[in-house]
Amino acid sequence: MSNSLKSICITGGGTAGWMAAILLSSALRGSNIKITVIESADIGTIGVGESTVPSIMDFIQACQINLKEFIQATSASFKLGIRFDDWLNPGENFFHPFGKVGKDINGFDFYQAWLKSLADGQKTRWLDYSPSAIMAENERFMLRPIQSENWVLSNYAHALHFDAVQVARYLRDICQQRGVNRIEATVKKVNLDNKGFIRSLTLDNDTTVSSDFFIDCTGFNGLLIDKSLKVGFEDWSHYLPCNRAVAVQTEQVDKPVPYTIATAQAAGWSWQIPLQHRTGNGYVFSHQFCSDEKAIETLLSSINGKVLNEPRIIPFVTGKRKKLWHNNCLALGLASGFLEPLESTAIHLVYKTLVHFIKHFPDGDFDADNEQAFNQKIDADYQEIRDFIILHYCTSDRDDTEFWQWCQTMPVPTSLQEKIRIFRNRGQLEDHQGQFFTHDSWCSILEGMKIRPQKHHPLVNGFHSQNLANTLNENIKNIRDTVLKIPNHYEYLQANCPAYIKKNS
Ligand code: FAD
Repeated sequence: MSNSLKSICITGGGTAGWMAAILLSSALRGSNIKITVIESADIGTIGVGESTVPSIMDFIQACQINLKEFIQATSASFKLGIRFDDWLNPGENFFHPFGKVGKDINGFDFYQAWLKSLADGQKTRWLDYSPSAIMAENERFMLRPIQSENWVLSNYAHALHFDAVQVARYLRDICQQRGVNRIEATVKKVNLDNKGFIRSLTLDNDTTVSSDFFIDCTGFNGLLIDKSLKVGFEDWSHYLPCNRAVAVQTEQVDKPVPYTIATAQAAGWSWQIPLQHRTGNGYVFSHQFCSDEKAIETLLSSINGKVLNEPRIIPFVTGKRKKLWHNNCLALGLASGFLEPLESTAIHLVYKTLVHFIKHFPDGDFDADNEQAFNQKIDADYQEIRDFIILHYCTSDRDDTEFWQWCQTMPVPTSLQEKIRIFRNRGQLEDHQGQFFTHDSWCSILEGMKIRPQKHHPLVNGFHSQNLANTLNENIKNIRDTVLKIPNHYEYLQANCPAYIKKNS
């Protein structure tokens, strides 16, 4: 233990920086490792990451954060999935729900049983078996009851929409109460030793901060991992041509719905994220096919409610650092790479990177094999999410604009081509360890894009057709009946965890 780390310096106080500080302060409790966060008052945060996936609930639990207080402090609403409007064709929509869809039957994926029921002439929707989708359609929500194993909705899952600026503030306050050291300054210089390890940072107040390990959370800047360590960047722009976003906040005009809306647009897609006190809106677009002025015009004409701030253009490059961990530096959040927020995965990747990091936590020897094992895991995570996002574009039928015509013949990674080919045959999707998007997530997008397998698994033919139909119809009825008995999402928020900030303030 004499060689163990004594200090970690987190550079950057955005969502990634404070998530790292709070999770590490919980995980390293009792280790005597000193955690310091340096945040600049002069360089702003990106502040638009407001839609999450269910792993946010694991993060909140792992950090021993009080959920009710977190929701109230960050004006959060609940999220049961994403509604995709106009993706297959204008005027059509589908839903990507969280949680499981249906329950496996006799050891077979529910999806296979459902395909067999379609072949038998049944006409139910895939989403009829998703508690999250039916709750979202009816704008209902409640947290899981304590004894919920036999609850009809037990396989639903949820995440949160929250105000990103308030999240960073809330996490910062708790971190400081828990002993994390905070320095307000801008890093001017990164000082390396002759082996390429970071030894210290020089700040704009002319002081120097030394540390055993550094976490680069400086956003797109990548001050440590890129500007100083120059690990290189894997550019994925040829797969995903969107390279800019415009974001704007609006007054809340309707009651917040428990899902994000992602609407396909002429040169990309726009988001709507309903919080308790306002709505977050944005348009992710390709500059090759759309000017900034046109993107702003498109966004402003597609939203309701008074605009609360100047539309902000955010350029980005899709891809990831060649290595997220190099020597004594880990890149986290936007400093590590970026995939467009179509499936709200960036904050999830921050959490997952930290989970991998804790598992591979270094000692002072900085074993190269350990670093490599970590980097391989995170490469797989990034690639899985990249392929899942590409799926939304390459399966669209749209060819009504130059952007969508480009998508008709877009390059598709071999890993994804293979996945779609196997699925088209008989609806099989190989699960692999540690994957984030479940079989049901893939099926939801493919079904939404009207891609059905040619046949089902031969062994589900053994199911008795009438018994199967009865079971499925009963499932649908149970889910619907139960959903209609639970509270309306907005009323549930008001009764249990109303935002501290009032609507439209
Ligand atoms: P930032 O928020 O940019 O923070 C960087 C920090 O580094 C700041 O505190 C800054 O002051 C500090 N800093 C920079 N340079 C220095 C320096 N020299 N010295 C000291 N400090 C410095 N994610 C989701 O999960 N869901 C979403 O819906 C979502 N939507 C997004 C939409 C868009 C358009 C974009 C661009 C991103 C979106 N993201 C989303 C990603 C999400 O915003 C980020 O992953 C998250 O906010 C983390 O940001 P960050 O902390 O890495 O960077």
